[in-house]
Amino acid sequence: MKVTENFNLKQHNTLAIDCHCDQFILVENLHDVEKIVPYCGKQGFFILGSGSNLVLTKNIEKPVIHLTDRFHARVVDGLTVVWGGSIWADFVMWAAKKGLGGIENLAAIPGTVGAAPVQNIGAYGTEIKETIVWVEIFNYRTGKFQRLSNDECRFMYRTSVFKETENPWIITRLAFELTPKAEINLAYDGVKDELQARNILEPSFQDIAEVVTTIRQRKLPDYKEVPNVGSFYNNPIIDEKHHKKLARKYPDLVSYPLENNHFRISAAWLLETCGFKGHRMHECGFSDKHALVLVNYGDSTGKEIISLSKEAIRSVNQKFKIKLKVEPQIV
Ligand SMILES: Cc1cc2nc3c(=O)[nH]c(=O)nc-3n(C[C@H](O)[C@H](O)[C@H](O)COP(=O)(O)OP(=O)(O)OC[C@H]3O[C@@H](n4cnc5c(N)ncnc54)[C@H](O)[C@@H]3O)c2cc1C
Repeated sequence: MKVTENFNLKQHNTLAIDCHCDQFILVENLHDVEKIVPYCGKQGFFILGSGSNLVLTKNIEKPVIHLTDRFHARVVDGLTVVWGGSIWADFVMWAAKKGLGGIENLAAIPGTVGAAPVQNIGAYGTEIKETIVWVEIFNYRTGKFQRLSNDECRFMYRTSVFKETENPWIITRLAFELTPKAEINLAYDGVKDELQARNILEPSFQDIAEVVTTIRQRKLPDYKEVPNVGSFYNNPIIDEKHHKKLARKYPDLVSYPLENNHFRISAAWLLETCGFKGHRMHECGFSDKHALVLVNYGDSTGKEIISLSKEAIRSVNQKFKIKLKVEPQIV
């Protein structure tokens, strides 16, 4: 375990916001995890992964816990168990190369394995909840480890029990059911088209992971060059009546039918239609590559980014009577 005082977090959040924390505690393994208990004051800790789903609006006064990103995964009794600090994208490639399927559509999503269940990461028709068997947590108030089953994690679209309440938990390890028999998921036309372009008729998990990575690189701005946190808003859900009204007025509306006569609306379409794609305010703005991505062009602050995001929420609400929900956590 390594403790650093007055630590700069600019390299530890993908929006590259210049903020500090009073204390940064690097945890190297499960034994270290237990050693953090004495550092826990009344205010608890802030757990930081790769900072790819955060907007830092101020310095963090709580001690910040960060699990080392040294990759560690192994297959035990048919389950794939992974260290929470491991980089998610590395894990997906490792599994795909081993012929273990189920998460290949989630390739190239930034962040750590430990943060992935927090918002039940999803992409290209797959969510992490489909393969998680248990999530190991360390309760820093009681000093005890515990395993939550998939049901206990209460996974839903971009959320879980880990987001519901402020809890004293660090996610330390995850177990997945990944198998060579997993069905290839070609729900997204883009994936099918790219496979066809590569002349791949019977794709392996590795093919899918590589194709998804290529599509993502094409579609999304690279946060290492243009700092961002991916999608800034969730795709909102509206009822049938509302959808009918919008579809009549906007024939190009992008939406997907759900159960119970509801529809998921493309937040990117809403923003683009309101003119936000490429819209810039000082050092931050909406990407000209993808309207859903807010980027830091220089030394923008978290407060400026939030202010611009509120402008977009107001505008979308005025035009479509839909309230967008911000996806990343505002700290
Ligand atoms: C370019 C880009 C593309 C993206 N694309 C997608 C996408 O397709 N789908 C998608 O779902 N998301 C996407 N995201 C969002 C992001 O990658 C995920 O939410 C990711 O899981 C965040 O991981 P992190 O380690 O960066 O977490 P952080 O941003 O560091 O933390 C996020 C939250 O998790 C908590 N947390 C982190 N680690 C732990 C832990 N070990 N224990 C307990 N709590 C913890 C933090 O306290 C915080 O509340 C994208 C982001 C970017 C920058």
